[in-house]
Amino acid sequence: MIRAPVSLLNLLLGGLLVALFVLSGLFWQKLETDQRNFVGERVAVQARTLARQLENRLADQELDLRRLAERWLHEGGLSRADWEREAEFLLRSFPGYQSIQWLGADLRMRWLLPSEGNQAAQDFQLTPEHPNYKVAERARVSARSQLSGSFELLQGGRGLILYVPLYVPDAQSERRFDGYLQAIFRVTPLLDELLSSIADQRFGIELLEDGLRRYPDEVSPTSPDDLQRVVPLDLIDNTTFSLRLSPTSTLKARINRPWTRAVLVASLGLSLLLVAALYLAFENSRRARALLAANLRLQSEMARREQVEQALRDSREQQQLILDLTDFCRDGLFIVDSHSRKMLYMNRAIHLGLGYDRRTFIELFEQAPQKLIPGYEQWLEEVRQLHRAGLPRFLQRELLRRDGSLQPAEISAQLVSRNGREYLIGVARDNSERLQLEARLQRLSQQDGLTGLHNRRHFDQQLQAEWRRLRRIGAPLSLLMLDIDHFKSYNDTLGHLAGDDALRKVAQLLVECLQREGDIACRYGGEEFAIILTNTRLKGAEHLAARVHQRLAELAIPHPGSPLRRLTLSIGVATSDLNLQEHPQTLIAHSDQALYRAKRNGRNQTCVWAGFGVNQDAAPSLPEQ
Ligand code: GH3
Ligand code: MG
Ligand code: MG
Repeated sequence: MIRAPVSLLNLLLGGLLVALFVLSGLFWQKLETDQRNFVGERVAVQARTLARQLENRLADQELDLRRLAERWLHEGGLSRADWEREAEFLLRSFPGYQSIQWLGADLRMRWLLPSEGNQAAQDFQLTPEHPNYKVAERARVSARSQLSGSFELLQGGRGLILYVPLYVPDAQSERRFDGYLQAIFRVTPLLDELLSSIADQRFGIELLEDGLRRYPDEVSPTSPDDLQRVVPLDLIDNTTFSLRLSPTSTLKARINRPWTRAVLVASLGLSLLLVAALYLAFENSRRARALLAANLRLQSEMARREQVEQALRDSREQQQLILDLTDFCRDGLFIVDSHSRKMLYMNRAIHLGLGYDRRTFIELFEQAPQKLIPGYEQWLEEVRQLHRAGLPRFLQRELLRRDGSLQPAEISAQLVSRNGREYLIGVARDNSERLQLEARLQRLSQQDGLTGLHNRRHFDQQLQAEWRRLRRIGAPLSLLMLDIDHFKSYNDTLGHLAGDDALRKVAQLLVECLQREGDIACRYGGEEFAIILTNTRLKGAEHLAARVHQRLAELAIPHPGSPLRRLTLSIGVATSDLNLQEHPQTLIAHSDQALYRAKRNGRNQTCVWAGFGVNQDAAPSLPEQ
């Protein structure tokens, strides 16, 4: 994702660098060209100036000669002395002359100055064969000065001749040709002189004639140079000459100063720097963007982490709050590894309820759990069986307190497997109060409110239970049915409250008469009572009945409506026949029949159900009067 733009960028920057290099090169070339053009132009201007100066200086000499020619015309020729004086003056004023001569109208040499060095020309005559003949002729015809081309002088060396035609007035005052005033110049001294004042050290100056170099003499060839400039000369109507100027090596060195190269190097360097700066700028920008993106990612990550941490803190706080709150729970909560018995969690209620501090409880549970939950292993196995069967796992247990007392507890136990381990989650509730309440309610539901004896319901349940139990073990069961005699008249005579009081007294008496554990006295209804005697034969029952009669007699509760003037009661007794009697109701019926008999026989006595086929009226047991 990132590499492609980077390499594209590098490519672009490379392209830019190449373009800048090319531009730098072009710019350098342009500078070079401009500079060369500028120098060339300077050379051309200089060359033109020099040419004009050269032309003017030669023209000045020609003018002097023409003045002499004018004087010649006006004065009709000059004497030799005058001529020589003028010629000497000219020779002195301009050292470029080789000689000044007068060539007569017959074109023969007449006068010549200086004679020294020009002896070879003493007898010269211009003939049509002479190369300058036409030039001279042109001067004569045009009456204008003419400069010849260069030629080999008779005196040796190369020279030029300026032909100034001379005229004298004739008889008709017409001008008559009178020869030429010839100024001979040697090329080198002439140019030396002409250039002496105008020479420019910065240039090499050459005089060309029809493209051939005439000056200077040195044969050193001039190398072709694009800075050379050739300017045509008009030397007194002679246009075959031209001037060639070449910049000297000093000027070239000055021109070729390496500033353009320095510009090139600087330009290349700047290009390189620019591209490098751009590269660094792009790279920096890319890194800054990457850094920004990384920062944004970091910030969002930090924000997310902060949220997670906050959620974690909230969760921990909530967890701690839950754990703290569970400490206020009256039920004991615990989570334990069922095999290692390591306690994962428990609240305060579980250890404080049994009187232990937290550490001791944990250690004890791990080392000897039966000291906390008696029969722990068996209980745990029971829990596992219920778990496998999918049955509810509420178990009533008795926990062992530190002081050795037992605490009833209802434990809801749940087994959970995680990561190959079995955990036991338990909620233990101290339900002793509830059990006590239940027991009390149970008792109340089985108790007679007036007398405190067991009521009819309990009687029925107990008789049924004992019946079955004793039948299993083959033990006898006796039942006494007791009914207060003439109790209606007792109420009628002494009032209902007195009747209630009497009932309580009889009840108390019955309880006191019972001597064996398991014997139960109940209020059967109204003023009737029943006594269940477990594992008791008829004899024992009769014995108890006799004791009841006796104690009641001793109590001597007054009863104005009774023939004996005291409260009495009648008792019917029956004992279970293990072979015949199949139902406890039968036993009740038998004792009821015996009681009925006791009433019929006169009350205040005990009658025993004597068995099937026996005269029930026989053998009542009467209490002592
Ligand atoms: P019998 O000798 O034949 O048993 O005659 P009785 O009067 O005892 O028998 P009866 O069945 O005629 O009368 C029973 C009386 O018991 C009637 C009722 O007023 C009285 N009684 C029953 N329950 C109570 C009680 O809870 N309190 C009081 N005060 N009297 C009761
Ligand atoms: Mg009755
Ligand atoms: Mg009665």
